[in-house]
Amino acid sequence: MKLPALFQIRVLKKAFAALFSRPYTTSFPRVPFEPILQFRGRPRYSEADCIGCGTCAEVCPADCIDVQDVSGPGQPLRRLVQHLDVCICCGQCERYCPTKTGIRMTNEFDFVGFQPADFEEKVEKELVLCEHCGGIIAARAHLQWLVARLGQLAYDNPTLMMTSLRELGVVAPGLKTGVNIFHRGRHLSVQCPRCRRQSALQV
Ligand code: SF4
Ligand code: SF4
Repeated sequence: MKLPALFQIRVLKKAFAALFSRPYTTSFPRVPFEPILQFRGRPRYSEADCIGCGTCAEVCPADCIDVQDVSGPGQPLRRLVQHLDVCICCGQCERYCPTKTGIRMTNEFDFVGFQPADFEEKVEKELVLCEHCGGIIAARAHLQWLVARLGQLAYDNPTLMMTSLRELGVVAPGLKTGVNIFHRGRHLSVQCPRCRRQSALQV
């Protein structure tokens, strides 16, 4: 007859040895827990390194990052809102971030909250609008990043060139929207792809 597991010699030996060995579990939260190096905890945006391109939202398999473009009477902004209560800590956002440091996985694992807002991670970036139709082109930091990456080649693109020159203070800030985009003098202005195509065909 087979004895119940509790009375088997093998089990009894292990149970007896366990009485005199250290526990397998950690003493968290009494003793702070240090995760292993490869641990993936909550991701965090870097205000300085994020360029507001929105790639992280595109690649997130849990669809937990919202890209909110807010344009109105004030400064137009792109707001990236990450919902940590939905995040599965997979690391895809960090992996595909073009700057590599715009969002980083941390080793934080014990984030708690009492309402959805407690689980939101946000970053805001200024938007650049088309000087003709007022449509959204990209975040200013994104255009600056492109100019830095392209170097001299950026001057092939009037929008990038004007963005760069305005940052340097060489030319005045953007003109009012609604002016005639087919005027030759308006070719060198900040335009969305649609207006650029229209003006390029007409000039
Ligand atoms: S720079 Fe990186 S973190 Fe910022 S929006 Fe783009 S992909 Fe996301
Ligand atoms: S870690 Fe994964 S699930 Fe979480 S925000 Fe990044 S891509 Fe989305």
